[in-house]
Amino acid sequence: MPAPKLYDTLSKSIKPLTQTKAHDFGFYACGPTIYAEAHIGNFRTFVVQDTLRRVLELSGIKVKHVRNLTDVDDKTIRGAIAKAIPLAQFTQPWGEKFANDCQSLNLLPPHVEPSAVDHIPEQIDLVQTLIDKKIAYVGADQSVYFSINSFPNYGKLSGVDKIEINQSHHPSKSSSLDADEYDKDHISDFVLWKHRKDEDAEHFWQSPWGEGRPGWHLECSAMSLKHLPHGIDLHGGGVDLCFPHHDNEIAQSEAATGKPCAQHWFHSEHLMVEDQKMSKSLGNLYTLNQLNDTGYAPASVRYALLAGHYRKKLNFKFDLLKNAQNHLKQLGKYQQQLIDLSQSPATSYTELCVQSIDSLLINNPFASAWEALLNDLNTPEALGQTFLTLKQLDKQLKSNSLNTEQAKSYLKGLSLIIAAFGWDVTLTESETTADIPADIHALAEQRLQAKKDKDWGACDQLRDQITAQGWSIKDTPDGYELIPQN
Ligand code: AMP
Ligand code: ZN
Repeated sequence: MPAPKLYDTLSKSIKPLTQTKAHDFGFYACGPTIYAEAHIGNFRTFVVQDTLRRVLELSGIKVKHVRNLTDVDDKTIRGAIAKAIPLAQFTQPWGEKFANDCQSLNLLPPHVEPSAVDHIPEQIDLVQTLIDKKIAYVGADQSVYFSINSFPNYGKLSGVDKIEINQSHHPSKSSSLDADEYDKDHISDFVLWKHRKDEDAEHFWQSPWGEGRPGWHLECSAMSLKHLPHGIDLHGGGVDLCFPHHDNEIAQSEAATGKPCAQHWFHSEHLMVEDQKMSKSLGNLYTLNQLNDTGYAPASVRYALLAGHYRKKLNFKFDLLKNAQNHLKQLGKYQQQLIDLSQSPATSYTELCVQSIDSLLINNPFASAWEALLNDLNTPEALGQTFLTLKQLDKQLKSNSLNTEQAKSYLKGLSLIIAAFGWDVTLTESETTADIPADIHALAEQRLQAKKDKDWGACDQLRDQITAQGWSIKDTPDGYELIPQN
C-alpha cells in the first residue's frame, strides 16, 4: 500500500509519512491552553489531526500521539488570580471540559497528554543546557533569554530567516521581549524563563535563576524531548503557531540536541467567520455546546470541519452544518441497507486497524475515496468520491442488481471511510433533516466541480437534471444548498 503523503511546511513539499522499524511513529501536537472553553476553530485543528492519525493507523503505522496541555501562561494565571484560586483548581475544569468535547467529537485520546506544570524540572533542565551551551543568557531583568543570533537557522519554518533581522534584538531595546505571543515585526531574543513579576502573585517556581515560570514555547520542547525520545516524526498545530511558537521550539530543541526538532511539520489553516479567524479575542466563536443547543450534534460539526481541505481557510456557515447533517443521514441509511443486504456487520475502526487494507481495497468501489485521504489528506475530494460511489450504489439498489458479495464489498469500503473520517453515522433525535438522495448529492457535487472548471454548459445541464428530479439548487459561498420542490 502506498504511504500516506502530506505537505511539510518546512520543506514546502509533499512527502510520504513512514514509520521506521525501531520505534513508534512519534506525533506531537500542540494542545489547548486550558483557561476557557475551546471553540470549534480550535477543534478544526484537532479534528484534522485526529483524521490524519486515523489514516496513519489504518495504513498500518503504529502511532504514539502526544498532545500537551498548556496550563501555565499569562491567561491561566490571570484567570486563577481573578477567581482567587490556585492555578490547578482554575485549569482543571477547563481541561475536563476539553476532554469531554474531544470525546463527543470522537477524537482518539492521545497516548500521552502532558501538562506544562507537571514538567517544570524538565523545562529548567533544558534552560540550563542552553545556558551551558552559551545559547541562552540571563538578562538584566533576571529572565532567561534565547539568543537568536547564536542559532544561525533561526526562523527557517516561517521564513523570518529571510527577513533582515536588525540590531533590535537586545532585551533592553524591545518592549515585548518577554511576551509569549508576538508577530514578525517584533522578532527578538525570546524568553525561556520569566522572572517573577507582581502580576504572577503566588504562581511561580524556584529555579537556578530565582523565582519565576517557564515561557510558553519552552514546554513543547521539554515535553516532546521527554515523551518522544526518538524524535518527532510529525509535529502539528494551527498555522498561527508557525511563528513564533514553532520557530522558537525548533531553535530550543535543535540548539539543545543538535538533531532536527521534527521530520515533518503539519499546519492546518484556520476556521474563519466572515473572513476573520475564529478566536476568543474577536469573540466571533461558536462552541460545541452552543451548536448542540441549536440542533447540531458534534458529529455534524466534525463532518463540517472536514468539508474543506486542511490547507485552505474554511468559512464557518450554518449551511455547512445543514449539509453535514444531511450527508451523515445518507451515510447512515446506506450503511444500514448494506448491513441488511450483506447480512454482515459493519467493521469498526479497531478491527480495521489490524486488517490488511490492501486486500480490502482490491476492486473496492471506495478505493478512490481512500486514495484521496492518502494524498495530502484531501478530505473534500474523499467526500466527493464517496458520494459518487454512493450514487452508483443507489442505482444498483434501485434496480435490485446488487448481490450479497457486492454488498459486502461496498460495506467494507464504506466502513473504512467512516472509520477514517471518525463519523458517527447514527443521528441524534435532535437532528431532523431533509432526506436528500445520494444521486442528487452526486449531481450537485459534479455541478460544483463544473463551476470550479468554469464549464457553464455542464453547470446548466446538471442544474436541469437536479430540477427534473424535484430539487432546486441554490449557490452559496461555501458551495450549494439543496431544497426539495413541493
Ligand atoms: P490555543 O488553545 O489558543 O493554544 O489553540 C489550540 C489550537 O487551536 C492551536 O493549534 C491553534 O493553532 C488552533 N486554533 C486556534 N484558532 C483556530 C482557528 N480559528 N482555526 C483553526 N485552528 C485554530
Ligand atoms: Zn507547542
